[in-house]
Amino acid sequence: KGAGRNCYAIFGAHMEELLQTRREIEYDLRRAVAEGEGLELHFQPVYAADNGALCGAEALLRWHDPIRGSVGPDVFIPIAEECGLMNSLGEFVLRETCLAAQRWPALKIAMNASPKELRGDGYPLKVMSMLNHYGINPEQIEIEITEGTLLDSGGQCQRNIETLRSAGVHFALDDFGTGFSSFGRLQNVKVDRIKIDKSFIDRFGKEEEGQAIVEAMIGLARAKGLKTTAEGVETEDQRVALKELGCDHLQGYLLSRPLSKEQFDELVGGNVVN
Ligand code: C2E
Ligand code: CA
Ligand code: CA
Ligand code: CA
Repeated sequence: KGAGRNCYAIFGAHMEELLQTRREIEYDLRRAVAEGEGLELHFQPVYAADNGALCGAEALLRWHDPIRGSVGPDVFIPIAEECGLMNSLGEFVLRETCLAAQRWPALKIAMNASPKELRGDGYPLKVMSMLNHYGINPEQIEIEITEGTLLDSGGQCQRNIETLRSAGVHFALDDFGTGFSSFGRLQNVKVDRIKIDKSFIDRFGKEEEGQAIVEAMIGLARAKGLKTTAEGVETEDQRVALKELGCDHLQGYLLSRPLSKEQFDELVGGNVVN
């Protein structure tokens, strides 16, 4: 009993500390969003599996706080969602994605959208006005959503996706395979691409079963006319095997880490517009 109580005390103190840190992050993040400072998109190159050509980039949000240093999106995005900052943050991502699309007109630019954003009934209009404003062809943009996004939103999310897809915007199902019924989900929701989660790519080449699962995913996508991207490709063996299985696009540290705008400019060389 004594030990139990002790544990509770430690747990309680730890909880308090966590909450305090969270409140501080929330405070700093709110200021960063308001002033647009310390936030930027980095871009991870996406390559064609068959000939290795650079095809596009995934925009990934970065936050550098002057005191805290770099804070990962895995940490601050959930906080932004809970404290109502995701709309402004999402707008920032959307705008910067349009600017990137202008800057690299030959490339497809993918951005991540959080469940909260996608569920709003104003979302399609927001996206289309922004694309319009920057003169971006909707087909240059791909929006990555996770399965969680599609759960229980009274169909609003699905309707938003349909609206944007009929305007030409592409959609990818991110982290494919990690949800409860990824395969079943494909029946109901129309997307253009699946992104095979890194966890499957990790097991790929190590275990026979890992190979079979990825093969099944690519086969299913094919049958449904969907494109496939493998994320988190880290070894040459993975690259070769994915190419042989007919995976369309590859993304991962083997090919490139996410790059700043300036670093990405160097990669595309003379292709830059502004
Ligand atoms: P995600 O969409 O699955 O993004 C891929 C993550 O894997 C990125 O981490 C990327 O840097 C990392 N990655 C890519 N290749 C490799 C590899 O070969 N090895 C390893 N170990 N990692 C690799 P990051 O940038 O920390 O992003 C984490 C998550 O944060 C993203 O996962 C995404 O869910 C979320 N996120 C990032 N930017 C945004 C954004 O603008 N909006 C929203 N809503 N979410 C975002
Ligand atoms: Ca993603
Ligand atoms: Ca992903
Ligand atoms: Ca992932």
